[in-house]
Amino acid sequence: MSVDLHCHSTASDGALAPALVVARAHEQGVRLLALTDHDTLEGLDEARAAANALDLQLINGIELSCLWGGATIHVLGYAFDATAPALVQAIADLRAGRWLRAEEIDRRLALKGMPGALDGARAEQQALGDSGNAPARPHFADFMVSAGHVKDRAEAFRKWLGSGKLGDVKQHWPTLEQALGTLREAGAWISLAHPMQYNFTRSKRRKLIADFCQAGGHALEVVNGLQPAEQVGSLAILAREFGLMASVGSDFHAPGTWSELGMHRPLPDDLTPLWLRFAHVQQSAAL
Ligand code: MN
Ligand code: MN
Ligand code: MN
Repeated sequence: MSVDLHCHSTASDGALAPALVVARAHEQGVRLLALTDHDTLEGLDEARAAANALDLQLINGIELSCLWGGATIHVLGYAFDATAPALVQAIADLRAGRWLRAEEIDRRLALKGMPGALDGARAEQQALGDSGNAPARPHFADFMVSAGHVKDRAEAFRKWLGSGKLGDVKQHWPTLEQALGTLREAGAWISLAHPMQYNFTRSKRRKLIADFCQAGGHALEVVNGLQPAEQVGSLAILAREFGLMASVGSDFHAPGTWSELGMHRPLPDDLTPLWLRFAHVQQSAAL
């Protein structure tokens, strides 16, 4: 069975509507899928309707941003109660924060001779699929390309939107502890997303994982798409050492990029897959 527990739709910064993500995953052979949009549950209903029409199990998923050690960290929550008040409230706060951030990006770009960025980014976003969430940086990048301010998305990020640039507006994220508390109140299984992508030293990465355990985390995302095999090896060692389970995912955002649904390196087989804890997966394994 092919498993993919990390992907994005137009509900956050992905290029495909939730139903199209599910259909594409199914075509790629995925039979257990979690849609993990950034800080929103908005895509889950549409994804579930699509999954029900196919031979594919969809797990509730989300990728939450939070702060730890001065950096933005991503945690993945799975198989939670999407109506849990703590989670609903946290997402409402994040959504409001994302709109404030988008307005700030708009203000800053206008001062640099790029007026109308929020409306333009919103138009780019809505062209992909209807969303009540604020446009994200890729949408601003597409606006900048359309308006002729830059030649492509890469240039938009390099000059204006990338880390440390003018359009990289920091949001007031919850702390790691708060994000895990919210997810735990909703009964989620929790994995630390792509632990090698934070550019931490080995010792800082170990400290992050220790704090993640302390806050009640369950798993490491040992496999993220086609990351180098030696990274999978390093993360497998950390999962064993800290007694954590493991999750896998493609981190798919758009067709024709570095990632594809269902495409990721294999999980070392002595590790415990987090998805065995998802109730209905256990049931179907027992049948
Ligand atoms: Mn993303
Ligand atoms: Mn991420
Ligand atoms: Mn992601």
